[in-house]
Amino acid sequence: MITILRKQTPPLCLEEEKSKTNGNYECGDTLFRLQQDFHYKCYICEKPNLTDIQIDHFLPRKLRPDLRCEWTNLFLCCVHCNNTKLAGYIPLLDCTKADAQIAQKIRCTAEPMSQEVCIEALSDEIEVANTVRLLRDVYFGKTSHKAHEAVVLRRLLYEELTRFTGILQKYLVAAPVRKPRHREQIVKDLQPTSAFTSFKIWVIWQHERLRSDFVPDIPPELQPPLIT
Ligand SMILES: [Zn+2]
Repeated sequence: MITILRKQTPPLCLEEEKSKTNGNYECGDTLFRLQQDFHYKCYICEKPNLTDIQIDHFLPRKLRPDLRCEWTNLFLCCVHCNNTKLAGYIPLLDCTKADAQIAQKIRCTAEPMSQEVCIEALSDEIEVANTVRLLRDVYFGKTSHKAHEAVVLRRLLYEELTRFTGILQKYLVAAPVRKPRHREQIVKDLQPTSAFTSFKIWVIWQHERLRSDFVPDIPPELQPPLIT
């Protein structure tokens, strides 16, 4: 999970739907605007190019029926994460808040070679603890069925990190004249539009040379903790 700043304005049709008992929160171009804002990625697992699109109510409809058609309560996610979250894990970190600073509160690391995923809280806020619990359940599965889905999700993550670390290795050994080409791809991978960005940021952060070369290129809302 990374901080995602909404840029779209709320669809006008949502205002009309709010006045209805069971208003349609998928009215008009709501889904299109959500896809644009969330970069076609699930906001929880960061899986890209979603084909199993769901709209998650950040604060569940059961608890807050008044927010059923509230734009800031609608989040783009995949079926796996939506079913895992359901009405639990409250309160959660709201990744659409500019001051969420998720990369400074949660460390996400994965090792494709040993096939390990580690998600750790760096702060003792209850929102952070709940978000870490949700992310662990998403990446490992809470039930037998979800555990099978999580295997596929982790495979996608390992494949993406293997590709990313391959580019990093090329960058590190490249002659100065060839570095800009690799650098351009690495910077692109550190943007919110990229898949599993939270894990890539920590790959950079944990390597001294890469950290000094690339942390300045990470967008402000995705900045990892400062080295003290
Ligand atoms: Zn997901």
